[in-house]
Amino acid sequence: MSFTSHMDTALAEARAAALRGEVPVGAVVVSPGGEVIARAGNRTRELNDPTAHAEILAIRAACAALGSERLTGHDLYVSLEPCPMCAAAISFARIRRLYYGAADPKSGGTAHGARVFAHPQCHHVPEVYDGIGAAEAERLLKAFFDQKR
Ligand SMILES: [Zn+2]
Repeated sequence: MSFTSHMDTALAEARAAALRGEVPVGAVVVSPGGEVIARAGNRTRELNDPTAHAEILAIRAACAALGSERLTGHDLYVSLEPCPMCAAAISFARIRRLYYGAADPKSGGTAHGARVFAHPQCHHVPEVYDGIGAAEAERLLKAFFDQKR
């Protein structure tokens, strides 16, 4: 089976989030068969919900679609390094592979900060592939925060 990246879809969700005035981060859940089953962008402002990160919304939608609390064998694409909250949710959901774009030294929780997947309490560790579509993800974030200043 050939590899198809779904990062373009995650970046499209990030762009849509920026247009809503949200931090531009997008996430996509892909089934073991390669089908997109959920896609989301940040909605923390719209929903008045600090947990409404793209990854959380995509995982919730995917679990609802499957009628399961776990996404065993599923992959998650996200345009930015997940924060510790999302990294924990990714682990709880049993995500198989995590593909992310830009590194996030300030708020990331996988390669930076809490490094959730490296913690002994982390019972499920996905395979992690970073830097996918990173340049575009960084450009969107920079444009968003430049405009805020
Ligand atoms: Zn997060």
